[in-house]
Amino acid sequence: MEELFTDILVIGSGLAGLLAALEAERAGLRVLMVGKFAIGMGTNTSLANGAFTASNSRFSKENHLQATLESGKGLNQIRLVKTLIEKGPEAIKRLRDYGAPILERGMGYIMDRPEGSSQLPGVLLIKPLIERLRNSSIKLLPGLVIFDLVVEEGEVRGAFGFLKDGKPYLIQSRAVLLSTGGAGAIYRRNDNQRSILGDGYALALRAGLPLFDLEFVQFYPFALGEPRLSSFLLYPPYPKEVRLFDEKGEDLLERFNLRGDLNRAIIVQRDRLSIALYSATQSGDVFFDLTQVPQEKWEHYPFNFLKKSKFPFRERPFLISPAVHFFMGGVEIDEKAATSLPGLFAAGEVVWGIHGANRLGGNALTECAVFGVIGGQSAAEYVHEREREQKSFNLFSEDFMKKWDRKVRTYLRKRRGTFDEPRYLLKDLKDLAWRYASPVREEESLKEGLDRLASIEKRIEKVYPATLKDLFKKRDLENVALLLKAILKGSLFRTESRGSFFRKDFPDQDDTNWLKNTCYRLEKGELEITHIEKSEIRNKFRTFEF
Ligand SMILES: Cc1cc2nc3c(=O)[nH]c(=O)nc-3n(C[C@H](O)[C@H](O)[C@H](O)COP(=O)(O)OP(=O)(O)OC[C@H]3O[C@@H](n4cnc5c(N)ncnc54)[C@H](O)[C@@H]3O)c2cc1C
Repeated sequence: MEELFTDILVIGSGLAGLLAALEAERAGLRVLMVGKFAIGMGTNTSLANGAFTASNSRFSKENHLQATLESGKGLNQIRLVKTLIEKGPEAIKRLRDYGAPILERGMGYIMDRPEGSSQLPGVLLIKPLIERLRNSSIKLLPGLVIFDLVVEEGEVRGAFGFLKDGKPYLIQSRAVLLSTGGAGAIYRRNDNQRSILGDGYALALRAGLPLFDLEFVQFYPFALGEPRLSSFLLYPPYPKEVRLFDEKGEDLLERFNLRGDLNRAIIVQRDRLSIALYSATQSGDVFFDLTQVPQEKWEHYPFNFLKKSKFPFRERPFLISPAVHFFMGGVEIDEKAATSLPGLFAAGEVVWGIHGANRLGGNALTECAVFGVIGGQSAAEYVHEREREQKSFNLFSEDFMKKWDRKVRTYLRKRRGTFDEPRYLLKDLKDLAWRYASPVREEESLKEGLDRLASIEKRIEKVYPATLKDLFKKRDLENVALLLKAILKGSLFRTESRGSFFRKDFPDQDDTNWLKNTCYRLEKGELEITHIEKSEIRNKFRTFEF
């Protein structure tokens, strides 16, 4: 087993992780960054549309606060929202200082794309950061998949993982920053990177941390649904010539009462549209038609992006579907990005609290920027503080290594497997998620989903990794099944509809009974769910000022 030592380990190389690593290095510490792929690649950040919501010369902090809380429907963590809003412009300035081309626009900022460029805004965003990283002392270990956080004597002391070639790594670190992103790819239909399977949530749960509000999943109405194409989002602005119809030819924009107003609807009625489209796709195919869009409109983003594809988007209608976009739930942090486990910090989509029951568009990148910077600084402060107090720890003691050697052997133990191939099981889990933890949920189907999940879990237990690939796949299966169970169970408890969360059998928001956050914990391997009252939010909201 390979052993490494560092001051700060950053898990994940999206926007949150990149900024945290650069900040920690500025504080003069040894930083190691790991990610599933090449640094910056395979991240949702690289797919992002590059919109940051934050106050600017025309959009005030008060407006940002109001819009964020309005979306969150009473479930936001006010102290985090306050930090987001106060530090947003400063974090964007930091990104500009690193060389990211960002312009002020509307309710915040947007990546500046050269006219005619077909590069994704997210790629333009991370390029200068990666450049900085390569010219820094930060050590990079791409392709290392973290399987466990190492927790000893009530504090985090590093992490354990396997490199893609199967070599096990035990990393001792004085502080760890978790920036593993969300979990959109646990659903059959999603616009995330394929590898964004909620590892960070599972790592935190297994390390004894609670997670919150996992039942709140954000869907986006329009993503490509053609079988052989990636399910890319179809971004606005939509030209007025766009048509949307079902397989019988019925005009869905008419049916949804949206003719001529699609660009506004995608902002103010995004969830209603996702629900309506999900229901429509349950009874047949739904098509997007761009054949009437005039030539000149195809020259500009986002259409020039579609133009690059071999698929004849300009010649014929194509299948679309809503898709999972973002996870509102996750790990609890304080304003310094510290979790309740000493030494563990978290930033980015893996974190819970800012968005409440629904995320305001553009707040995710701002969250990554603000809490990525704070997380890196706080982790560095934590390490310096320990040094001042002369607190040290000896992770690689003989006993400790024996314990981890045993654990590694369990991971690698080969036994006769079953006929279930992990990739088919993963497909089954994703289908189950799409069917039962969909934009439209109800008691009967949630219970059915949990029953079906229980039988898939039994099949997962019997998968013994015969190859290295299977070792990683088995971990994915365990993580996805755990997360899915949390979403289904949490959804079953919440007998109301709020924000992105819709129960067909309880279609109204119920502030009397459900102004609560859902708390998930793993107790002796069992998932436990409790609820925390949020009634104090209303009072705080009234007295909240900048
Ligand atoms: C198509 C699309 C467009 C979007 N557009 C916008 C937008 O315009 N504005 C906005 O505000 N938000 C947008 N979002 C949301 C936003 O992009 C994401 O929330 C944000 O980029 C997440 O960044 P992150 O740093 O938290 O994680 P990510 O960028 O997703 O990175 C996660 C990292 O963690 C690593 N990782 C995960 N598990 C492990 C493990 N076990 N071991 C090692 N490494 C691991 C991954 O390899 C990756 O490096 C968009 C999202 C999508 C999908």
